[in-house]
Amino acid sequence: MELEPIMTSSVNAEQSLTSSIAAAEVPANLAALTRADFPLLSQTACLGQPLIYMDHAATSQKPLPVLEALLHYYDHDNANVHRGAHQLSARATEGFERARQKVADFISAYSSQEIVFTRNASEAINLVARSWGDANLREGDEVLLTLMEHHSNLVPWQMLASRTGCVLRHVGLTDSGELDLNDFQHQLSERTRLVSMVHLSNVLGCINPISEVTALAHDLGALVLVDACQSLPHMPINVTQLGCDFLVGSSHKLCGPTGMGFLWGREELLEAMPPFLGGGEMIQDVYLEHSSWADLPYKFEAGTPAIGEAIGMGVALDYLQQLGLDRIQAWEHQLKLQLFDRLQTIDGLKILGPSPQQQPDRAVLAAFTVDGLHPNDIGALLDSEGICIRSGHHCTQPLHRHYEIPGSARASLSFTNTPEEVDRFSDELISTIGFLRQNS
Ligand SMILES: *Cc1c(COP(=O)(O)O)cnc(C)c1O
Repeated sequence: MELEPIMTSSVNAEQSLTSSIAAAEVPANLAALTRADFPLLSQTACLGQPLIYMDHAATSQKPLPVLEALLHYYDHDNANVHRGAHQLSARATEGFERARQKVADFISAYSSQEIVFTRNASEAINLVARSWGDANLREGDEVLLTLMEHHSNLVPWQMLASRTGCVLRHVGLTDSGELDLNDFQHQLSERTRLVSMVHLSNVLGCINPISEVTALAHDLGALVLVDACQSLPHMPINVTQLGCDFLVGSSHKLCGPTGMGFLWGREELLEAMPPFLGGGEMIQDVYLEHSSWADLPYKFEAGTPAIGEAIGMGVALDYLQQLGLDRIQAWEHQLKLQLFDRLQTIDGLKILGPSPQQQPDRAVLAAFTVDGLHPNDIGALLDSEGICIRSGHHCTQPLHRHYEIPGSARASLSFTNTPEEVDRFSDELISTIGFLRQNS
């Protein structure tokens, strides 16, 4: 990939989509620019067919610079961090802390002290539920979630509710499969202490109006946590513009290694919160009976962290930023229009969530059902043709239950996908559906 870096962090999502589309009628073909960086995507599947990867919402593939950074860390700099005894430890610490700054820059956080490294986004949400939730919520307080949340943004709150007696409420959806903002306003009240909401749904593909949600929530004194796992890889994110109080993300969805995620929180909130896990790294002084805590963000980072993986995540963020989040958005917008054009003409196929006609900046993913067919059969047959999509409930069982379906098939794309792949996927899907109908 050879691209000039462009600044994206100060541009808001909607503006950037329209301006990049206006600026370049034909967006840069990012698949052509980047495919050589992803050797995994050049393999052939069974029968010599090219492999097509359309499961980016489950996990992203990793470009060579990320793999090289991991190798370089382990064969040059490996040592434990924050124990400045020797040069290796100094280099490891420097790389690790540079990665923290990269995360802060990626989301335009005020300071890298506001970035807490976790194992994944699930752990980041559990951290807030345990630390902030246990300290602040009492019986009758309310946490407002939505019907479209990932299990990671449901279960930690259920566990909190059983510890504290707080009440969970869930905002409903409109007929088009978007957040029902009227229902949100209806359910939000002075009892609401926290709103925890996905930014971009991993099934509906819709983008939720977080700035509006935070303004309404703050008016009533509630905090807002944003699950940005799916939005971070696809659009510029700026925590100040979103106006939220906490935001979580996951490295493996962002072209980075697994085992790495982060929590961003406003400094004064994190400062006031008690530690989550106890152990090494998170302490100031330890006595036999009691201890004092380290400064932010280390107070929340017990034990040896995933050092190489943090460095790999930093390089992944560099990669995305160099490509340009607005250029990614523009290219994916074109793929999305093509994908929906093809899928919308297939008889008996229903896509969950808003169409691009209803919500132009929705994500380049399509979770769908086909009348009379099981999504697992569709997924398995496409897999035998070398096409990787996902079938099942995608960690959103309550959402699927709401639609009274056992699961759906989901194709989720990224900037590495080509228009040719969209066509081949659509053609194979049509013949798969034909075959299954004949044989059912
Ligand atoms: C993947 C995902 C999660 C969970 O992330 P992990 O890092 O795997 O814990 C949470 N929410 C959404 C919307 C996701 O897509």
